[in-house]
Amino acid sequence: MGRAFVYVILGGGVAAGYAALEFTKKGVSNGELCIISEESVAPYERPALSKGFLLPEAPARLPAFHTCVGANEERLTPKWYKEHGIELILGTRVKSADIRRKTLLTAAGETISYKFLIIATGARALKLEEFGVSGSDAENVCYLRDLADATRLADVMQTSTGGNAVVIGGGYIGMEVAASLVINKINVSMVFPEPHCMGRLFTPKIASYYEEFYKSKGVNFVKGTVLSSFVFDPEGKVTGVDLKDGSSLPADLVVVGIGIRPNTGLFEGQLTLEKGGIKVNSLLQTSNSSVYAVGDVASFPVKIFGESRRLEHVDAARKSARHAVAAIMEPDTTPEFDYLPFFYSRVFSFSWQFYGDNLGEVIYFGDFSGTSFGAYWVHKGHLVGSFLEGGSKEEYEAIARVTRLKPAIDDLSELERQGLGFVVGL
Ligand code: FAD
Ligand code: NDP
Repeated sequence: MGRAFVYVILGGGVAAGYAALEFTKKGVSNGELCIISEESVAPYERPALSKGFLLPEAPARLPAFHTCVGANEERLTPKWYKEHGIELILGTRVKSADIRRKTLLTAAGETISYKFLIIATGARALKLEEFGVSGSDAENVCYLRDLADATRLADVMQTSTGGNAVVIGGGYIGMEVAASLVINKINVSMVFPEPHCMGRLFTPKIASYYEEFYKSKGVNFVKGTVLSSFVFDPEGKVTGVDLKDGSSLPADLVVVGIGIRPNTGLFEGQLTLEKGGIKVNSLLQTSNSSVYAVGDVASFPVKIFGESRRLEHVDAARKSARHAVAAIMEPDTTPEFDYLPFFYSRVFSFSWQFYGDNLGEVIYFGDFSGTSFGAYWVHKGHLVGSFLEGGSKEEYEAIARVTRLKPAIDDLSELERQGLGFVVGL
């Protein structure tokens, strides 16, 4: 059995939703496009899962956060896909791909053929087993990648009020989930190997600002060590964790956020890979001209860095998806993808944005004992990155605009003196 489509989007996450909207804007006909997704729901804004979804009062639930509400665009419910003649093939895993024949084989045994394929398979959460620790299957050990994970985490959180949680990992998931756990009145210990949280983006000074606030909310930081094993009760539930530094922590709930791996497996040996992802050119096209890759799984040329990167963030997923659709539908007029890397997070009442690259010397500005501060990164005489906490809409737009320009910086102390005024004035 089989079906044929002109356009197939493989994966039903953030990028898929934004690609679908763009296809309708460019004029796709009924029955030409399908989305195949292992998830059982239409594409949604994944960032909601570690934020609004975990709130104790009036938590966000679908259909409220289907794409493309994250970019203040239309909300694409299953009804929307139906009305636009887009086939949603949900709850369906693709188990193999044949790039030469332009076919995908689903786990149910259906062959789906395409003229153009957009790979939007995203990434999977790394498991502790990959670091030699077993126990991820225990009922109170939670990961957070999809709706099913978030639903389980919310359930376990409800039964853990007043109890102890251990958060493994000090990255995005660790920081955002730890804040949600605190808001849900659960005592939190965070365990991670680096000297400070958000080790790959934050400087020690920026990290310390957030860590001090988390500490004031009762969060216990256990740094420079990792988990060595779980402690179980006779029913197989985790009751604590043993750490490599010899210490132990009690746990009613464990949340693990130790990074991801892009879902490239279907294409290994068929498409060129790079930096752990699928290599694409500046039109998001892979080494096969009928196949495009977008979002977390794509390694694309980032013009302002002069090199290819894989960016595991929602803004890149949205914009790369739109651009790939434009490149497919309007090949003669679509320019190169010229993307400015943008990361953000919201925890408690904090909200920060970062643009560009965190390379070179760091110049701080603002009030680190107050609610608004930031930093610039200056590399080889140019401003290459900007971070701002607690900014206004106009200020965030200003740091984005100026970072894209990579202005020459002759005098670091003058930049420090001007602070945020430097970008607002340009
Ligand atoms: P995904 O959204 O991961 O979608 C991939 C899809 O492919 C899934 O539906 C998956 O089931 C499907 N799939 C994979 N393999 C197959 C297969 N073989 N067959 C069928 N289907 C398949 N980024 C930010 O910038 N800001 C944030 O605040 C933020 N918060 C986040 C919070 C959480 C909890 C998580 C997990 C991520 C967050 N991110 C955030 C990252 C952001 O969500 C991702 O960068 C984005 O979702 C990537 O989009 P994507 O479409 O490439 O992949
Ligand atoms: P991150 O890569 O952000 O962080 C992983 C953290 O776990 C790092 O602190 C890492 O340290 C640490 N770590 C790695 N191995 C171990 C280990 N064995 N034991 C303990 N700690 C370990 O990944 P997350 O899991 O936090 O996030 C998953 C994905 O979701 C990412 O793509 C992220 O971008 C995305 N996300 C983005 C958000 C946002 O943009 N606001 C919010 C939530 C998720 P080290 O650096 O030393 O490896």
